[in-house]
Amino acid sequence: MAAKALLTALIFLPLLACQKPQAVASAPAQSAQPAWVLAHPEYHAHKDCIFCKIVAGVAPSKKVYEDDRVVAFWDIAPRAPIHILVIPKQHIRSLDELEQLPVATRAALLDACFKVAKEFHLTERGFRVIANTGADANQTVPHLHFHVVGGERLLEDPITIPGKASAPR
Ligand code: AMP
Ligand code: ZN
Repeated sequence: MAAKALLTALIFLPLLACQKPQAVASAPAQSAQPAWVLAHPEYHAHKDCIFCKIVAGVAPSKKVYEDDRVVAFWDIAPRAPIHILVIPKQHIRSLDELEQLPVATRAALLDACFKVAKEFHLTERGFRVIANTGADANQTVPHLHFHVVGGERLLEDPITIPGKASAPR
């Protein structure tokens, strides 16, 4: 009986050793996470946010700049010859939640606005950077974004128009 067991073991153990470790190979790899999440574990996305979908690459966009903290892409309805949106990959609602962003990401946003302006030659004749924040500013997409607009002489804005440029709430 013992000899039979030994014989069985001698035949089957080498066969088992040749098997590929299927279960280990098919386990979900950590790299299934997007690189920007791996680089910044504090980052998260909102599943119903169109800009988070653009960051994740599951909604279309015409990207003009990307690094590990920010993305810049064309506004879908440009209001000037150049109209680019600069956003953090980390979802925050608007500037009113800026404290939630790492300082390096805050710097990266400003830096990306400058890079975009330079790339599109806006630094030569001027441009505007706008961050509509909340209801009073008519913000429509609740993921922080900076509009970088230029390429023509822009209309005056509420800051430069003399008097009060507002509507009743
Ligand atoms: P705001 O009104 O300041 O919140 O600006 C939101 C901007 O996002 C608008 O200028 C929209 O045209 C733009 N926008 C909305 N959806 C998209 C999209 N899927 N891709 C690019 N731009 C978008
Ligand atoms: Zn978002």
